[in-house]
Amino acid sequence: MKPAPFAYKKTRTLKEAIALLGKNKDARLLAGGQSLIATLNMRLSAPELLIDINGIKGLDGIARKGASIEIGALARHAQVERSELIARHAPLIALAMPHIGHAAIRNRGTFGGSIAFADPAAELPACLLALDGEVEITGPKGKRRVKAEKFFKGLFETALGPRDVLTAIRLPAATKDTRVGFAELARRHGDYAIVGLAASARAKGKGLSDVRLAYFGVGVTPVRVKKAEAALASGDVDGAVKALELDPHDDVQATAKVKKYLAGVLLRRVAAQLMEARP
Ligand code: FAD
Repeated sequence: MKPAPFAYKKTRTLKEAIALLGKNKDARLLAGGQSLIATLNMRLSAPELLIDINGIKGLDGIARKGASIEIGALARHAQVERSELIARHAPLIALAMPHIGHAAIRNRGTFGGSIAFADPAAELPACLLALDGEVEITGPKGKRRVKAEKFFKGLFETALGPRDVLTAIRLPAATKDTRVGFAELARRHGDYAIVGLAASARAKGKGLSDVRLAYFGVGVTPVRVKKAEAALASGDVDGAVKALELDPHDDVQATAKVKKYLAGVLLRRVAAQLMEARP
């Protein structure tokens, strides 16, 4: 299928992009186009105007800033995947990247696009939540930061307003005691996950503290499971699996029952990863 007709404008500045969003109620930002163009071609959406933000300079950097790692919204998945800084300071992101689609998709798709699109089965929103990261949003009134916990609001729904551009993502840089784990089950490598789990924790003596488990593919947003986190922090893996408070729906990939079972399997795998790396 072909998309409905639309106008196209390539912007060179953030200010211009925000002004265009203000003037056109039915406009969409175009980043890597790896999700947006598919929805246009399937006629799931038909905006009047596409505002191409790929020409805006300075939005694709990856940098260490104090105790954080900042990833510009326009950093391509492939760029993040190959980044030394990410491998060293954001190991959970490095684990997740190869699971996102295929090489061709990662060459065009952007980190910010994935967070803004907020697909509930996508890897990066769950990583952002597991890492307690935050999103930088630039709108008509300037910049603001929103924690992952408050950013993902519903199915493909985020804290981004109609005149906002997601400009960067900030993650706490890993320290010596940081532990991370990642696992997903998909029909084929590169497909969206049936169920996935991103996790972070701190090594504490022989155990773990600050455990954060964020599932994807089991709800309308990435989902934290706080009772299971507490059980895992006390070293009780069986207890953590029993305490999983997930309420997935049947979807085209699997029934809710299968998803719940798989969530337990992934929890055991990720728990082993978190424990394995203890000092
Ligand atoms: P676009 O498609 O350009 O935009 C997506 C949406 O986000 C649009 O509504 C757009 O307006 C908005 N948007 C984009 N950037 C911004 C911004 N800076 N500020 C505000 N709004 C913005 N993803 C996964 O996570 N896991 C997968 O396994 C996976 N598999 C895929 C398989 C296929 C075959 C394809 C085609 C895609 C797959 N993707 C997958 C999607 C891919 O990761 C996309 O790159 C990502 O979802 C969107 O990024 P994008 O830059 O392409 O955004």
